[in-house]
Amino acid sequence: MLKEYSLQTSKRNEMKNITQMVYEAIEEAKFSKGYAIVYCPHTTAAITINEGADPDVQKDIINGLEKLAPPNAGYFHMEGNADSHIKSSLVGISEIVIIENGKPILGMWQKIFFCEFDGPRNRHFFVKVQNG
Ligand code: ZN
Repeated sequence: MLKEYSLQTSKRNEMKNITQMVYEAIEEAKFSKGYAIVYCPHTTAAITINEGADPDVQKDIINGLEKLAPPNAGYFHMEGNADSHIKSSLVGISEIVIIENGKPILGMWQKIFFCEFDGPRNRHFFVKVQNG
């Protein structure tokens, strides 16, 4: 089963918690065992799983990526968002979640995030739920 979701981001760099949407897709698929692929079809955004309890972790991840790929650091790309492309490749555009007993296996502090690196924009992502 494939589901597409839209979301609106509000900042240039931002991590949006999409865990609830992934849960919904998995519930709808009604597979007891399997896996879900969370995938974003963008070159300046990403998907990651990390801590959702303390929002400072999200700030630190964004600040850490900003240090690895600072904006306007003498890049070739004419569009002016080379740092956004680098951050997208560093974080990656997909995550796989294992489903057991109809629920995703996530640690107590783990949440799934859509990462915006060139917002604000209207974005979308896919959840592919597979039986197995
Ligand atoms: Zn670009």
